[in-house]
Amino acid sequence: MREILHVQGGQCGNQIGSKFWEVVCDEHGIDPTGRYTGNSSLQLERVNVYYNEASCGRFVPRAVLMDLEPGTVDTGNNWAKGHYTEGAELIDSVLDVVRKEAENCDCLQGFQVCHSLGGGTGSGMGTLLISKIREEYPDRMMLTFSVFPSPKVSDTVVEPYNATLSVHQLVENADECMVLDNEALYDICFRTLKLTTPSFGDLNHLISATMSGVTCCLRFPGQLNSDLRKLAVNLIPFPRLHFFMYRSLTVPELTQQMWDAKNMMCAADPRHGRYLTASAMFRGKMSTKEVDEQMINVQNKNSSYFVEWIPNNVKSSVCDIPPRALSMASTFVGNSTSIQEMFRRVSEQFTAMFRRKAFLHWYTGEGMDEMEFTEAESNMNDLVSEYQQYQDATAEDELEYEDEDEEGVHEM
Ligand code: GDP
Repeated sequence: MREILHVQGGQCGNQIGSKFWEVVCDEHGIDPTGRYTGNSSLQLERVNVYYNEASCGRFVPRAVLMDLEPGTVDTGNNWAKGHYTEGAELIDSVLDVVRKEAENCDCLQGFQVCHSLGGGTGSGMGTLLISKIREEYPDRMMLTFSVFPSPKVSDTVVEPYNATLSVHQLVENADECMVLDNEALYDICFRTLKLTTPSFGDLNHLISATMSGVTCCLRFPGQLNSDLRKLAVNLIPFPRLHFFMYRSLTVPELTQQMWDAKNMMCAADPRHGRYLTASAMFRGKMSTKEVDEQMINVQNKNSSYFVEWIPNNVKSSVCDIPPRALSMASTFVGNSTSIQEMFRRVSEQFTAMFRRKAFLHWYTGEGMDEMEFTEAESNMNDLVSEYQQYQDATAEDELEYEDEDEEGVHEM
């Protein structure tokens, strides 16, 4: 058994987390009382990855729910309150619950955390918890589902601060981050789904479909990316570059559409960058051979969008079980250098305010040092430069580097 411990924190984290469990319970045939009512042994084969089995034979989500009470010990969208004051006071009691769950596991593979980066609790306290978990379980994997803020969806001005301070943490303490960008989710709802005033419910519907697709390979028997570490090995060529964009599809022309920029869940256009790696998960009854051929076809036609110095950088897998009410679906996870567009957007919003030190007193008032802002800003800018560097790198560059090394050896 290779268990995953799920944690959700803050308003957004709790919303998307409960949607995730609704979808997953449904797919595994588990009813709201925890009883199995399904019809396929595949549903139970790896059910222990996400569920504890209680003595009465019921399945209980292995989940820790964390929040601060609005109004009383609220973070008020202040990252410093979540990370250093209000949240920090409660973190040990959260860790106690996490520890208890972890101890009950046979062989824990890692953690997944659902949170938003724009607020205070999921963002500040969430990243505090992630760093504490990393300290206590350094060899376990840490996957996050992180919702990035967009002015299109929210009107709290300090969100770029909270998001940047969080990215600073996630670069170091998370292994894999699934980027859910509210800006892109809003655009998909508005432009593609023609919803004139998209609600959080609409955005979250897209999120839960994608979370189901991304975790499908962890929950059902199969070959590719069958655990968090394998997912990381295939997708992360450089340790800091572990922010993935993804999309899920519920329409017939799966292989063609999955590369389409318009429906990426992150407001960045893959055609403006190159894929370091990518992974496609297909669900439903279909021919593996046909899937492989189609995928190779797309790559050959668009070879300039894939770095040539990582051969075979696109993997695909097929899982027999489709999501509810569909015969086929696919989810695409990409490690694309174009994600820098999203980081640039947040960084520009951050810098515009930070240049004048606007709103900084809310953070320094909680004891934060301005230095942490400066460091977070440059860490995110470095991340952008790193993506750019690998976007520009060609196979020939690599050879030049090798030559330089050889010359060095001669001189010695
Ligand atoms: P917290 O409770 O302090 O963690 O704060 P929130 O989770 O409310 O964080 C605010 C950020 O999350 C803003 O960027 C909101 O747009 C976003 N947000 C809040 N609720 C939801 C939700 O249910 N779905 C999505 N997609 N975003 C949300």
